[in-house]
Amino acid sequence: MQMLKEAILRQGRAINQDVLLVDTFLNHQVDVALMKAVGEEFAKHFGGRGFTRVVTIESSGIAPASFTALALGLPLVIMKKQTSRILTGDLLHTQVRSFTKGTSYELTVKRDFLQPGENVLLIDDFLASGEAAFGVLNLAQQAGAKVGGIGIVIEKAFQMGHQRLEELGYDVYSLARVKSMSEKGIEFL
Ligand code: 5GP
Repeated sequence: MQMLKEAILRQGRAINQDVLLVDTFLNHQVDVALMKAVGEEFAKHFGGRGFTRVVTIESSGIAPASFTALALGLPLVIMKKQTSRILTGDLLHTQVRSFTKGTSYELTVKRDFLQPGENVLLIDDFLASGEAAFGVLNLAQQAGAKVGGIGIVIEKAFQMGHQRLEELGYDVYSLARVKSMSEKGIEFL
């Protein structure tokens, strides 16, 4: 997606060879016009496949997933990383290792929002090793639901996430696939 690649090249900063900072348009400040275009692109790719909900992980997946859900006319469910006194009831949990923080967190969703037999579309901001996506797959499996597609805004193609998910038969559609990055620049596949 050209508009996204241009934003990455103009505004992205590789803080080392593994981590890309895009806090001017995706992770802190949000370029909503770009996210609207991202959502429409995901809707074009994944539309007509019988999805029942869009799911994402808080917090940086929320903007692209919201516009995707809007374009597809579906509800959006946010998987929670933070516990809360109001997050109660019949909950599903799984442990996920965080790529950026190097620690683990518990991913939680209310069973009401992930029902048996559902076909959900996962949208997230980044794909690196795939741990976050595997967390969602685990919750879906516990719920008896299926993840019928995975849409990623920025994939770091030099990490293993895409391959791991594709080997299991998942349709992974990434809008920008970064081949390599360093302080000198960012290259796409
Ligand atoms: P994974 O679980 O695939 O290893 O990592 C994906 C998650 O880690 C994403 O949801 C994202 O929040 C975070 N992440 C991974 N790599 C990067 C990166 O290079 N930059 C930013 N901003 N977040 C990343």
